Amino acid sequence: MKTDVLIIGGGPGGSAAAQFLLKEGVQPIIVEQEEFPRFHIGESMTGEAGALLRRLGLGQEMERRAYPVKHGVRVFGSSSWYIPVSRRDENWELQLGSTWSVRRSDFDALMLQEAERRGARMIRGSAIKPLQAEDGTVRGATIRKPDGTLEDIEAEVTLDCSGMATFLANQRVTGPKYVGSYDKQIAFFAHVKGAIRDAGNEGETAKGNTLIFYKKKYHWAWFIPVDSEVVSIGLVVPTAEFTAHKQSSDEFFRSYMPTINPELARRTTDIEYVEAVHVIPNYSFQVRRFCGKGFICIGDAHRFIDPIFSFGLSATLREAEFAVPYVLDYLQGKNREKENPFDEYQRFIEKGTDNLEDMVDLFWEQPFAFATFVHQRYRGELIDAFAGRVYECERQPSPAILTFRKLLKRERDYDHPDDYSVPIGSRYHPERAPLWEPNSPVGTTEEWIKEASAEEVA
Ligand SMILES: Cc1cc2nc3c(=O)[nH]c(=O)nc-3n(C[C@H](O)[C@H](O)[C@H](O)COP(=O)(O)OP(=O)(O)OC[C@H]3O[C@@H](n4cnc5c(N)ncnc54)[C@H](O)[C@@H]3O)c2cc1C
Repeated sequence: MKTDVLIIGGGPGGSAAAQFLLKEGVQPIIVEQEEFPRFHIGESMTGEAGALLRRLGLGQEMERRAYPVKHGVRVFGSSSWYIPVSRRDENWELQLGSTWSVRRSDFDALMLQEAERRGARMIRGSAIKPLQAEDGTVRGATIRKPDGTLEDIEAEVTLDCSGMATFLANQRVTGPKYVGSYDKQIAFFAHVKGAIRDAGNEGETAKGNTLIFYKKKYHWAWFIPVDSEVVSIGLVVPTAEFTAHKQSSDEFFRSYMPTINPELARRTTDIEYVEAVHVIPNYSFQVRRFCGKGFICIGDAHRFIDPIFSFGLSATLREAEFAVPYVLDYLQGKNREKENPFDEYQRFIEKGTDNLEDMVDLFWEQPFAFATFVHQRYRGELIDAFAGRVYECERQPSPAILTFRKLLKRERDYDHPDDYSVPIGSRYHPERAPLWEPNSPVGTTEEWIKEASAEEVA
């Protein structure tokens, strides 16, 4: 089978890429290995993620499904603050806005069905091997279908939207994959009823807001309404904290979660769990050279920093939209002679994600300074960043991000062809991905999860 564009993974990144391609008259094939609806974490959206859904014409459907409307994010900790959801108008003036939080099983199914309804061809199956020309150009993938049969799908461009499965990185098609700075964090989460929602100064409209609570460095919790009754509560701590307690995930979550912050304890005194506690360890990584001849990795398929400020969906949806003009150029034969036909896109995306990383890092390194910046000095810049406006075309890096870099004593050098976005690396293994040695690979996710567990057991 042949196609112009093969999309591996029908999560939000894959189905958004398909819908943006279809708008341009390109009919892609999406290969998704799971039967939807399926559970997924990642429920709170930024303002720009909401705006992108409206651009796709999905605003009315989001409203019809009555997803909780998010007007802002409120943070409770040693310093507490609120950031409203915002948009920029045609004069680049900040305006208040709103977005949604979603139950992902439902939202992801909507996105995939919509891609199919608009003309994408859906194939159930798992991409197991990339097809490659002699010079390494990716030419599609071999798919294993649910009945066990194999099929080669040849494509001019392959978009890896496989999420944390990082299909092309695991197949060593990309550059190396590095452990990220939030290495050895572990997230526990569950859906509950009966939690007390935000009723900040905004009253009723605050009920759909995302709340974040923190206790001390790297110990925090989220509170995200996913419908009129159910709230997603997550707890994130260093893995060592969990193992030291010698409890099951369920026991640990239930007992530790309320200790994160008295305000969280007050809001969860009378909750009913409507599903089991889920766990995700070691989610922080960065893949180098995630674009190349015939391929682009989108969203979690190449980088995930940390979920604290809900940037995941925003990044994957926006990367999908930004990728489309580059894909169209490639299909028209442009840039094919280049070693990396998507180099410009790769650099653009990495710079944006670096801005996010610097922001998250400064929050943990200097929470008081961060709160002061939110309240006073960089309020507008941080309202932008929380809305997901982190790319060069959005006046980034802003003075706020540049100040964060100074405070973090971090330089970002984008001039060298390969030294852009040098992975910061794990705080547990700084020697493995140090700033000055960008080519020290640490292996695949499976390898490092195995390694991390072995160390914990030891
Ligand atoms: C603990 C935690 C909390 C989070 N909270 C938030 C949040 O509040 N807000 C937010 O915006 N983000 C959050 N995120 C991030 C968010 O979940 C992801 O960024 C987002 O889901 C990425 O979308 P994606 O389309 O790139 O990948 P995914 O949503 O993971 O989709 C990938 C799809 O590819 C399919 N696939 C994988 N391999 C193959 C293969 N070989 N062949 C065929 N199909 C394949 C999978 O089945 C899957 O359906 C959180 C992440 C974590 C870890």
